[in-house]
Amino acid sequence: MTKREEALAQLPLRNNLVGLVPYGAPQIDVPILLNVNENTHGVPADVHAAIVAAVDVAARGLNRYPDREFTELRTNLAAYLGHGIVPEQVWAANGSNEVLQQILQAFGGPGRTALGFPPTYSMYPLLAGSTDTRYVTAGRSAAFGMTASATAAHVRDSRANIVFLCSPNNPTGTALGLDVVEAAYEAGEVERAIIIVDEAYGEFATSGTGSALTLLPGRERLIVSRTMSKAFALAGARLGYLAAAPEIADALRLVRLPYHLSAITQAAANAALTHADTLLANVEAIKEQRDRIVAELGLLGLSPAPSDANFVFFGGLDDSRAVWRGLLQAGVLIRDVGIDGHLRVTAGTEAETTVFLDTLRTLL
Ligand SMILES: *Cc1c(COP(=O)(O)O)cnc(C)c1O
Repeated sequence: MTKREEALAQLPLRNNLVGLVPYGAPQIDVPILLNVNENTHGVPADVHAAIVAAVDVAARGLNRYPDREFTELRTNLAAYLGHGIVPEQVWAANGSNEVLQQILQAFGGPGRTALGFPPTYSMYPLLAGSTDTRYVTAGRSAAFGMTASATAAHVRDSRANIVFLCSPNNPTGTALGLDVVEAAYEAGEVERAIIIVDEAYGEFATSGTGSALTLLPGRERLIVSRTMSKAFALAGARLGYLAAAPEIADALRLVRLPYHLSAITQAAANAALTHADTLLANVEAIKEQRDRIVAELGLLGLSPAPSDANFVFFGGLDDSRAVWRGLLQAGVLIRDVGIDGHLRVTAGTEAETTVFLDTLRTLL
């Protein structure tokens, strides 16, 4: 233990936080950052101009608290989502991580259980821990897939109160069939389980992959979570949101902090949403690079998982740590998700992807 760790151990920390390690994807200053699935194309010029103008106006009114109900933003998000979703069904917070935390604050807590299907998003157990929610896991089938019948059995057996379904899944990139979501929802009927479908990468799905947004009508315990951090190239703005039954938003109003979305955040997000088409213009280019990575890694004799996201998870490495270090030395940061022989890389621009693939080829 370091001195600081010893000092931390002396503090009267809550029991369920003792020994936990904070979320910590490395933030290293290298030329090519392909480690946290950001959109590497940058903010388009017209979106930048619109955000600057909107923030300029918002800044004049910063002596007042912002619209606590972020009405304009919920209206814009509902319009963007489509599928007949109305503003009352939309909720937002500072990143979808905060949305997920609010869901756990409202529906989790002491005596309640959340279920996840690893390998999946590393924040689920941390959010459960910080809200005193028990976190249990269930396995996946071959190639990290999930079937409707196995998922339903796990939901029933765990008696979970909250179920995390990540689709497309981080870190594997695989999207779930909607039959899996339906089966999880039905199996959760006994415990009245909240079923969360985390669609942070929904915009990158291959055509033919359905969104759980289509399943919302008649399912008041289903929540579809989205973010502006990935496809929308706005990770720095911190805006995540969900669509669900209006009473889900009412539940989250009980736990959100007053005025949790700053006037600056609301202005930036609203301005960006008026340019949704430009924001999404780079999504197709990113998908091309993703498909290129999958194809080329296969030719290198590695085993990339099929991906519906803006990243590729690949195995078949003898020494994944050494490959990760070798790439870093060449100025390319990718992600070691702690699974032996595997690494995850974000699909960048064409030039970034070329440097990644060329460097990897020399390291193998
Ligand atoms: C990146 C990511 C998020 C988004 O987090 P934000 O707080 O919105 O930036 C949510 N879920 C998954 C699975 C992710 O990979």
